[in-house]
Amino acid sequence: MHSVRVSVTDKCNFRCTYCMPAEGLTWLPRAEVLSFEEIARVVSVLAQMGVGEVRLTGGEPLVRRDLPVLVRALADTPGVVDLSLTTNGVLLDRLAGPLVRAGLQRLNVSLDSLSHVRFAEVTRRDALAAVLRGLAEAERYPELRPIKVNCVALRGFTEPEVPALAALARAKPYVVRFIEFMPLDADESWRDDQVLTGDEIRRLIEERWPLEELPAKPSSTSRRFRFRDGAGEIGFVNPVSEPFCSSCDRLRITADGQLRTCLFSRREWDLKAALRSGADDRDLAELIRTAVRHKELKHKINERGFVRASRSMSQIGG
Ligand code: SAM
Repeated sequence: MHSVRVSVTDKCNFRCTYCMPAEGLTWLPRAEVLSFEEIARVVSVLAQMGVGEVRLTGGEPLVRRDLPVLVRALADTPGVVDLSLTTNGVLLDRLAGPLVRAGLQRLNVSLDSLSHVRFAEVTRRDALAAVLRGLAEAERYPELRPIKVNCVALRGFTEPEVPALAALARAKPYVVRFIEFMPLDADESWRDDQVLTGDEIRRLIEERWPLEELPAKPSSTSRRFRFRDGAGEIGFVNPVSEPFCSSCDRLRITADGQLRTCLFSRREWDLKAALRSGADDRDLAELIRTAVRHKELKHKINERGFVRASRSMSQIGG
């Protein structure tokens, strides 16, 4: 395992239709959420074990107060070689500077539409202008690269968005990536015919702009393409149509300190209980090793009898 995604909160200021119900979810009680010290301790143990890529996520990570303080602690942790953040971007215009100064290296911003009306339809928030301001602010820091823009691809919604998002990848220093819709929505309304595959989107883009595939790291979850005329990069994360489970090297830690070895896990390993009952670093490492030995072989979305994960995306940390 090389990479860990750490959820710093289960709360979010958006209500994306494919993720959370309009009324939100029952949030974790404050006392259940790991403190910055607890997160830094677990990350330090993981980093000593070779898990040096750390991504902060949520919920919406930027709603966690003083997030740059945590970023600074993680950036200073020996063995952490790559520190990134996934955000909806709505608070980024204020926080990009402090995060970069604290040591953030890479950024993913979720963006499903470049039309104000359709953005509000999918996120249930009229916030496209703020997200674009956040992206523009992030772009001012050349040390924060790459900037990836992630769009969840929904059949019947995303097709008309594709040309504008592809044009964004051509005009801006952003790698725009399309991510297949997964059965992780809290409403449990996912159906396989709502998945717009990466292949279908690629064909839509190639009607206008030919693409050429780029080599990817073996552990990469995305297929990378560049525009043949050299103007920018596009990616496809295809967990449903082209599962990449066999090369998955990720762990996840929920905001309440549960270690998960797959997005679709039904079993969690209680790091918080260990942390709060006096476990030393060796005990924590042993718990992590045991979890990794039980890592799922694959997610089985496409198999009959697929059983949904024990929590939804925002509660796990996407
Ligand atoms: N709030 C942050 C954000 O918007 O990026 C971080 C957490 S969010 C759960 C992480 C990513 O998961 C976002 O890009 C979001 O669009 C994606 N996501 C949420 N539900 C999904 C689903 N059912 N299928 C695929 N991606 C999903």
